[in-house]
Amino acid sequence: MAFEGLADRLQGTIKKITGKGKVSEQDVKEMTREVRLALLEADVNFKVVKDLIKRIKERAIGQDVLEGLNPGQQVIKVVKEELTDLMGGEQSKIAVANKPPTVIMMVGLQGAGKTTTTGKLANNLRKNYNRNPMLVAADVYRPAAINQLETLGKQLDMPVFSQGTDANPVDIAKQAIEQAKEDHRDYVIIDTAGRLHVDEGLMDELQQIKDTVNPDEIFLVVDAMTGQDAVNVAESFDDQLDISGVVLTKLDGDTRGGAALSIKAVTGKPIKFAGMGEKLDQLEAFHPDRMASRILG
Ligand code: GDP
Repeated sequence: MAFEGLADRLQGTIKKITGKGKVSEQDVKEMTREVRLALLEADVNFKVVKDLIKRIKERAIGQDVLEGLNPGQQVIKVVKEELTDLMGGEQSKIAVANKPPTVIMMVGLQGAGKTTTTGKLANNLRKNYNRNPMLVAADVYRPAAINQLETLGKQLDMPVFSQGTDANPVDIAKQAIEQAKEDHRDYVIIDTAGRLHVDEGLMDELQQIKDTVNPDEIFLVVDAMTGQDAVNVAESFDDQLDISGVVLTKLDGDTRGGAALSIKAVTGKPIKFAGMGEKLDQLEAFHPDRMASRILG
């Protein structure tokens, strides 16, 4: 489960400080040292950890905290607030276009979970927001990707717009939106091609689709288990495409949490959803405060 390692690692430290009637500056320093080591072990970006610890120290050593009631608990509260802020603070909402359909472009590297997440997101929008999405198969390089999306569409009983592997992805995306308008579909979710690595050809194609369909959201799908690699991938995609948010998949298998804790601070873009398993109903809105609670127990 997400953050398991971090939570286990910090349990002792949290107990120690919350149990104290009085907390000294030295106690705070010791605790932040532990938090720092735990975060680095969890593969959180080095600079992110450094800045975070500085903020925690500044706030926790403040008079109000150390001289207040339950100083130990207050110190932990500061840590929790800072972790929440680090992950984006408020839970961020999904866009709604003034004039339907709302267009969402799904981008990411192969294997990150993009196609699965396209299906999960459609399911989530229908279940929680009563929307009727249409899926678009714009990954024309891998016939398997088109089949996979069509299978998901069948499972969900949702239309999948596809023109096989011969058509141009930009045209597919454009025509899909026309079709969605005719069929009164209020969300169009475009599953674009992925590659094994970030490369120019991929970015050019995504940029062309972006320029043509003018999406309301560009969601980058990254695999949480790849840790700092996921953060680097997010930086590259954001530099090229100016993404609007991140979907972090496979958080169910990520005991460390380095990507979850670093992405917002490094890219400035929020994590909007988290994949918590392979099934279509295992996509959750990402709540920074709940994630921070998971870490601190
Ligand atoms: P794509 O190449 O990016 O389109 O990746 P796929 O959608 O084909 O997913 C790759 C693999 O990751 C599949 O086996 C999915 O079932 C799996 N997967 C996707 N999201 C999650 C998740 O949140 N948790 C787990 N455990 N597996 C996931």
